[in-house]
Amino acid sequence: MAKMSTAAVSCATALMLVHIIPDLLSVKIRESFLKSKAEELDRERGLIIKQEETGRHVRMLTHEIRSTIDRHTILKTTLVELGRTLELEECALWMPSQRGPHLQLSHTLNNLIPVGSTVPLNLPLVNEVFNSAEAVKVPHSCPLAKIRPLVSRYVSPEVVAVRVPLLHLSNFHINDWPDQSSKSYAVMVLILNGIRKWRDHELELVEVVADQVAVALSHAAILEESMRARDQLVQQNVALDLARREAEMAICARNDFLAVMNHEMRTPMHATIALCSLLLETELTPDQRSMIETILKSGNLLATLIDDVLDLSKLEDGSLELDTGMFNLQVTFREVVNLVKPIAFVKKLSMTLTLSLDLPVYAAGDEKRLLQIILTVVGNAVKFTKEGYVSIDVSVAKPEYIRDWQSSEFHPLSTDGHFYLQVQVKDSGCGIDPHDIPLLFTKFTESQSASNRHKGGAGLGLAICKRFVNLMGGHIWIESDGQGKGSTFTFIVKLATCNYPNEFPGRSVAGVDRANQIRDNLF
Ligand code: ADP
Repeated sequence: MAKMSTAAVSCATALMLVHIIPDLLSVKIRESFLKSKAEELDRERGLIIKQEETGRHVRMLTHEIRSTIDRHTILKTTLVELGRTLELEECALWMPSQRGPHLQLSHTLNNLIPVGSTVPLNLPLVNEVFNSAEAVKVPHSCPLAKIRPLVSRYVSPEVVAVRVPLLHLSNFHINDWPDQSSKSYAVMVLILNGIRKWRDHELELVEVVADQVAVALSHAAILEESMRARDQLVQQNVALDLARREAEMAICARNDFLAVMNHEMRTPMHATIALCSLLLETELTPDQRSMIETILKSGNLLATLIDDVLDLSKLEDGSLELDTGMFNLQVTFREVVNLVKPIAFVKKLSMTLTLSLDLPVYAAGDEKRLLQIILTVVGNAVKFTKEGYVSIDVSVAKPEYIRDWQSSEFHPLSTDGHFYLQVQVKDSGCGIDPHDIPLLFTKFTESQSASNRHKGGAGLGLAICKRFVNLMGGHIWIESDGQGKGSTFTFIVKLATCNYPNEFPGRSVAGVDRANQIRDNLF
C-alpha cells in the first residue's frame, strides 16, 4: 500500500513538474533579460549624466569667457577653467606670429612651457592639427608640448592639441591680429595631469571650448579696435577744434589786416597817384617826366593790387554784397570803350562794340562791378593782343541758349523781371593753351605759355571776375584754339529789367577811380 501510494505521489509530482518546468525556464530567461536591460539603462544614465556635465562645463566656460571683453583675460580664464575642470598639468595657447611663419606661445596655465617659445608653422604635426576639426592626440615630447622636466614624473602624460580658428576680420585693421590674407588658426595644447587618460566627452568639451574661444576672441578684437577708433576720433576732434580756433584767429587777424590796408594804405596810395597826375601837368624836364610817369604807373598797379586783394578776401568770406541800382547799359559799354580805346589806338588795334537791338537801355544791378568785369576782360584782350582786333558783342542771352548750356556750375533762375546779359569779347591776340584755360580763374594763376606771361598782373583779375559773375547769377568761360589763334571770353550775368528809370544815380567816385586804374595798368 505504501509503495503504491509513493508511486502514485511520484507520478502526480512528475506530471506537475512537466507543467511547471517551462514556466520556471521562462521566468529565468525574463530575469536575465531584465538584468541586461537594467545594465544598459545604467550605462545610458551614466552617459546622460556625463553629457549633462559636459554641457554644464561648456556653459560655465562660455559664460566665464564671454563675461570679459579683454582678449588676454579671455585666454587666461579659458586656460584656468579648462585646467580646473579637466585637472590639467598644463594648458597652453600658441598664436600665429606676426613676425614670421611660426607659432608663438602667448599664454600658459602653469608656465611649464616658457612663454615666447616658437614653433615653425610647417611642422607636419602643426599641419595635422590645423587640418583637423577635432582634438588631436600628440606625443608629450613634441615641440608643441615640450614641458620642462618635472622631478616626480614616472609616466608620460597624455596630450591633445586643438585648433582655434581665428575669424576673418579683414574689414578691421586690428593691430596685433594675425595676417588675415589666408585662414589662420591658433593652437591650444592640453596636457593631462598624472596617469589619467582622455575620455571622449572631455575631448568633445575641448573642441567646443576651442570654438567658443575663437568667437569670443574675434568679438573682443573688434571691440578693442572700435574703442581704439573711438579714441582716435576723440583725438581728431580735439585737433580739429584746435585747428578751427586757429583758423578763426587767422580770419580775425586777416580782417584786421584788411581794415588796415583799407584805411592806411589806400588813402596815401591815392594821394600819391593824384599828386603825380598834378605834377605831370607842370613843367618838367624829360627825365623828371619819365620818373613821375613810372611812379604813377607803379602807384596804379599797387592801388589795383590792394583793391583786388580786398575784393577777393571779401568775396571769399562772403562779406561782399552787390549794390543794386539802375544804370544805362549802353553808356556803361561806351564808357569802357572810351577808357580802353586810346591804348588800342597806340597799339594800332581795331576796336569794335556791337550792341544788339534787343538790348534794353536801362537795367538794374551793380554797375560798378559790371564795369570792373568788362574792363578786366576787355583790358586783358588789349593787353595780350599785339596786332589785329578786339571786338565786344553785347546781347540778351536767348532762353534756349541758357537752357542748352551744359554747365554743372550754372543754374539759371527764373527770368521773371530779369534778363541775362551776354557779353562776348574776342581778340586776335596770343591765344591760350587749352590746358591752361581751367586754371585761369584760379587766383594768382597766369598762363604757362611764354607769350602771355609776365605782363605785370598778379593773376587776380579773372579770379575776381568769376566770383563777381557767379554772385550776379551768371557764368564766365573762355574759348581759344590755342596759342597765336586769339581768344574769346564770354560771360552772362543776370540783371533786372527796368523800363522807366525814375532815379538814375551817378557812379561813385570810387567806381570811376577803379576804372581809371584798370585802364592805366593796360599800358
Ligand atoms: P592778370 O592780372 O595777371 O592779367 P588775370 O586773372 O586777368 O590776371 O589773367 C590771368 C592770365 O590769363 C593772364 O596772366 C594771361 O596769361 C591769361 N589771359 C587773360 N586774358 C587773356 C587773353 N585775352 N589772351 C591771352 N591770355 C589771356
